Amino acid sequence: MASRFEHMPPRLAKLPVDERGYPVPYFVEWIDGKPDFRVMNQQHLVAAIRFSRCWICGEKLGRFKAFVIGPMCCINRISSEPPSHHECARFAVEACPFLTRPMAKRNTRGMPEEAWTAGIMLDRNPGVTCIWTTLACRWFRDNGGVLFRIGEPERLQFFREGREATREEVDHSIATGVHQLDDLAKTEGTKAIVQLENYKRRFREILDGILPLPPPKEASDAARAS
Ligand SMILES: [Zn+2]
Repeated sequence: MASRFEHMPPRLAKLPVDERGYPVPYFVEWIDGKPDFRVMNQQHLVAAIRFSRCWICGEKLGRFKAFVIGPMCCINRISSEPPSHHECARFAVEACPFLTRPMAKRNTRGMPEEAWTAGIMLDRNPGVTCIWTTLACRWFRDNGGVLFRIGEPERLQFFREGREATREEVDHSIATGVHQLDDLAKTEGTKAIVQLENYKRRFREILDGILPLPPPKEASDAARAS
């Protein structure tokens, strides 16, 4: 089967191709000789951690680690999946978002019973996806699986439907989802609520630094008038 993409990063061009012509990412589990894009390959998860392999292409990562996450994970700095090369993440986010993570379609029909995920998945499609590139991350055990704590960003990019997202779209995605983090923190108590507020403030600072808001309308009108 030939790939349906003419121009792919060389590392992704080496991946096997499924019957539709899509490259099969490293994280995908093969069941009865067929890739199941909804299921995370547990052996590859271990290898990604132990040998610092890219979650999408499976080759060794360099210093920079790119996490593909939704805005809520940008706030709490947690990912349930290991990082990738920036180049691999960028291609996947722009060309076909379901290549970035298992269960991207949230389609659980016919899921094998052993499929599971660590942490608590916020079951919504955030609309906006972030590539968070960092030099620092560490994994920890949670709920029988592993999660990744993501360090300060070297670079952040937001995408929606294969193009760069606007600040307005990022803000909207946060505004419509953040109550889920608030609710979770409330169930965990005062310490979690305070920590969440700190995370929110820090993310707002980062966002204002890289995606400044346009000036208020009155101010820009006044500037034009003078
Ligand atoms: Zn890669």
